[in-house]
Amino acid sequence: KGKMRNLFILSIVLFASLGADAANVDVKSPDGKLVVSVSDDGGVPGYEVCYDGTAMLEKSALGLKTDIADFTSGLSIVSSDESKIDKKYEITRTKTSAVNYVANKLDVIFNTADGKKMKVTFCVSNNDVAYRYTLLPIEGSDCRCAVVYSEASSFNFPDKTTTFICPQIGPMTGWMRTKPSYEEDYTADAPMNAKSAFGHGYTFPCLFRIGNDGWALVSETGVDAGYCGSHLSDYAEGRGYTVAFPDKGENNGFGSEFAAIPVPGSTPWRTITVGRTLKPIVETTVPFDVVEPKYEASTDYKPGRYTWSWLLWQDNSINYDDQVAFINLAAEMGYEYVLVDAGWDVNIGRDRMAELSRYAQSKGISLLLWYNSNGFANDAPQTPRHCMNTAVAREREMKWLKSIGVKGIKVDFFGGDKQETMRLYEDILSDANRYGLQVIFHGCTIPRGWERMYPNYVGSEAVLASENIYFTQRHCDLEGFELTMHPFSRNAIGSMDWGGVIMKHRMGRGTDNGNYRRTTDVFEMATAITNQASVQCIAVQPDNIAGLPQFEKDFLKAVPTTWDETRLIDGYPTKYVVMARRHADDWYVAGLNGTDKPMTLTVSLPMFAGQKVKLYADNKKKKDEAIASSVLKTVKVDSKGMLKVTMQPLGGIVITK
Ligand code: CA
Repeated sequence: KGKMRNLFILSIVLFASLGADAANVDVKSPDGKLVVSVSDDGGVPGYEVCYDGTAMLEKSALGLKTDIADFTSGLSIVSSDESKIDKKYEITRTKTSAVNYVANKLDVIFNTADGKKMKVTFCVSNNDVAYRYTLLPIEGSDCRCAVVYSEASSFNFPDKTTTFICPQIGPMTGWMRTKPSYEEDYTADAPMNAKSAFGHGYTFPCLFRIGNDGWALVSETGVDAGYCGSHLSDYAEGRGYTVAFPDKGENNGFGSEFAAIPVPGSTPWRTITVGRTLKPIVETTVPFDVVEPKYEASTDYKPGRYTWSWLLWQDNSINYDDQVAFINLAAEMGYEYVLVDAGWDVNIGRDRMAELSRYAQSKGISLLLWYNSNGFANDAPQTPRHCMNTAVAREREMKWLKSIGVKGIKVDFFGGDKQETMRLYEDILSDANRYGLQVIFHGCTIPRGWERMYPNYVGSEAVLASENIYFTQRHCDLEGFELTMHPFSRNAIGSMDWGGVIMKHRMGRGTDNGNYRRTTDVFEMATAITNQASVQCIAVQPDNIAGLPQFEKDFLKAVPTTWDETRLIDGYPTKYVVMARRHADDWYVAGLNGTDKPMTLTVSLPMFAGQKVKLYADNKKKKDEAIASSVLKTVKVDSKGMLKVTMQPLGGIVITK
């Protein structure tokens, strides 16, 4: 109590010295280039972000509207405190394995007129800003909980800014009323004042090009059972984009659209990654830097590759014999997993699933099984249902999974971002860890620091993924656009289960039916590297594996799924990307050409300077070919590390030692 009173006196003293006039506090990155200025002009908490002398964010709002006070106006800065962060951590399931996070931290305390306190904490590293709010105890009050109705946090970019963003869709829409699930079309280089497609703003992450001054990626991290997921509103002149909470109608209206936090208690982190180029965005670790593991792994979770019958053989393939074919294929390829999709409980039955799992294990393969997250939140009929939505059901189910040797689950159809839903994600992850199960989410939200927070978390769909290539020709045609977008945005903030390096030319069972793939084989092989998830689908099929050139097959057998380092080499969202990832001592350079024109680039590959390397590339398409053929050559990278390469239309390159 004495301590509290001292704080109170101290704040009165500070209030007296700062409170009368507007106050301004700056914090800089360790290299001094990134500057955040926090202010309380006119009683409105705000911030600006400058990089290398250029405004990246003009005056933008801060603040919370809560049931204990309105922390968006009538505020003044009463104190601030700066400190340093220098921490090292290891992470095994994302773009890098060892991080040294160095940042300057600024805590700014704002007071309302009647003395209620909100702290805003900024962590500023060389290319990232992360900030969050903390509600502090109210002097002389028993209040220990608060409801946050809305956030004023805004991102007010300069007028010249264009956008690479994906709209949020309304609740209870789409397949069996399962949306929103982050499965909408991106637009590229659009003006900020374009209206969002569904009038619900945009899903994180949101990529902005600030004219020729640079780039910014806005997202959030550290969202767990203790808060809702958020997104960005539509653009408003003079205010920019504002953090928006879930729609009241999500989950059929069940669960609050607000957030509940304890007092004292904090919100998740809002993050802004900025740079002159896209390199800091592709390479950022800010989603993991400001969060901590929430529990320890119960076992040593194994990364790996999986085969998946459902992608091209669909529901009819969820039978014992077809699954045996995919297990045999996975064994032939040396893969770790087979994913058995929806309907196994009915079409194969639980007793024979135990048998199938035994068969898989005899071949060195573990099964991953699909689940519907439902419940009562949507109409998706796929089974098994009612196994993941309550603690009692999960306990029974996961015990059985462990007993038959299953090593992971894919849980599908979550409709939205309410705190109630975030709690379901966390509960599934935490329960699964007790039974040694890794978790992939589909029909879901984006991860928000989850690779670090939950050691058995693998990845999320949260993207218009490979299934759409089966469903419509339009998505086959758009594959180049999509997969050259995600390295700069969706996959930059967290693992993405795209669901398949697709080696078949036709998207169906057999060789002569289904939509036409437009990308080349090397494009697809390169996506095994550009798309990042620690357990990845390599969508080879029993009916096309024999037709692949031996060098393609050898590459697909050997490709890793975990990375110690990631570097962007070149690229532009929705046009092309060239990136390098290191697995132990081996570098894998992968390039995708998302356009319909050939592209010749001179790329900088310092890791291969003066060395002979393997180059997987496409031949020029011949007149009678649907897809250009591929070639493996040996080439020499010059002593300065430069190499000239050509990527064919919707083609790619892979370079390895
Ligand atoms: Ca989906």
